[in-house]
Amino acid sequence: MTARLIDGNALSRQIRADVARRAAALTAQGLTPGLAVILVGDNPASQVYVRNKVKACQDNGLHSVLEHYPATLSEADLLSRVQALNQDPTIHGILVQLPLPPHIDAHKVIETISPLKDVDGFHVASAGALMVGQSGFKPCTPYGCMKMLESIGCDPKGKHAVVIGRSNIVGKPMALMLLQAHATITICHSATPDLAHHTRQADIVVVAVGRRNVLTADMVKPGAVVLDVGMNRTDDGKLCGDVDFDGVSKVASAITPVPGGVGPMTITMLLVNTLEAAERAAQMR
Ligand code: NAP
Repeated sequence: MTARLIDGNALSRQIRADVARRAAALTAQGLTPGLAVILVGDNPASQVYVRNKVKACQDNGLHSVLEHYPATLSEADLLSRVQALNQDPTIHGILVQLPLPPHIDAHKVIETISPLKDVDGFHVASAGALMVGQSGFKPCTPYGCMKMLESIGCDPKGKHAVVIGRSNIVGKPMALMLLQAHATITICHSATPDLAHHTRQADIVVVAVGRRNVLTADMVKPGAVVLDVGMNRTDDGKLCGDVDFDGVSKVASAITPVPGGVGPMTITMLLVNTLEAAERAAQMR
C-alpha cells in the first residue's frame, strides 16, 4: 500500500482563504481581527514561529502586533502587558510564545490571558471547556489534526485512536478531541511498556513525542491513518517528524508529511481562533 499524503499546505490554503474572506467582512464593519504575539528572549526557534504567525496574519487580512522583550523582562512587567492587551479593543487574540525564561511562571502568564482572547487554547478555562464538551478555544495543533482527519473523510467515530504523547498542548487535548468525536482512545507516553502493542491495534495514530522514528512500519496496522506532529532534525539538519515516513507510508492508508503536514495547520487554526474571537467581539458590540 502507498499511503495518501495529507497535505497540510493545501488544506491550510483552503481554510485560510475562508479566514481572509471572513476577516475582510469584519473589517468592512469596522472591526479588523487582531492578534498580539509576545516573545520574551531570543530563542531562535521561537523567533521563527513568531515570524510565521505574524506573516500569516498579514497575508490573510488580520491585524497583528509583535511585542519582543529581552529575556530579562520581569514576570510582573509581562503580566501587566498581558493585562493591558486584555483591555485593548483592537486585540482579539493574545499569544505568549513558549518557552518563557525560567524566572517567569508560564502557567501564571497563561492564566492572566482573558479566556475570551486565549486563542492558543492553553488557559485552564479552555482546557476545562474541552474536557466537559463546552465551546471554547481549542489548542491549535490538535485542532489542526482533527481538520486533517475531516479533510480525508476519516470519521473517528467507532475507531481506535492511539495518541503517543500526553503534553497539555498536544497529546491530552488531542485525545479529548478524538474522544469527543467518539473514538476509543489509548494514550501512550514515556512509561508505556510496549508501545507497538498499542499502535498495532490503532486505526488512527497521532505521534507527538519529539523524537525521530518513534513509529516504524512494523508498529502500524495496514490501512491506519498516521498523523505526525513531531518536529525534529535529521543528522544533516533537515526537518523531520517522529514517524519513519518512508517505511510507514508503505503500510498506512494516509499520512502527514513533515514538513508540510501538521505544522502549517497549527498556524492556520490560530488564525481561525483569532477570527472567531473577533466575530464574537463583533456580536457583543
Ligand atoms: P512534550 O511536552 O515534550 O511531550 C512529549 C511527550 O512524549 C510526553 O508526554 C512524553 O512522555 C512522550 N514521550 C517521550 N518519549 C517517549 C517514548 N519513547 N515513547 C512514548 N512517549 C514518549 O512535547 P510536545 O510539546 O507535546 O511536542 C511534541 C512534538 O511535537 C515536538 O517535536 C514538538 O516540537 C512538536 N510540536 C509540533 C507542533 C506543530 O505545529 N507541528 C506543535 C507543537 C509541538 P512523558 O509525559 O511520560 O514524559
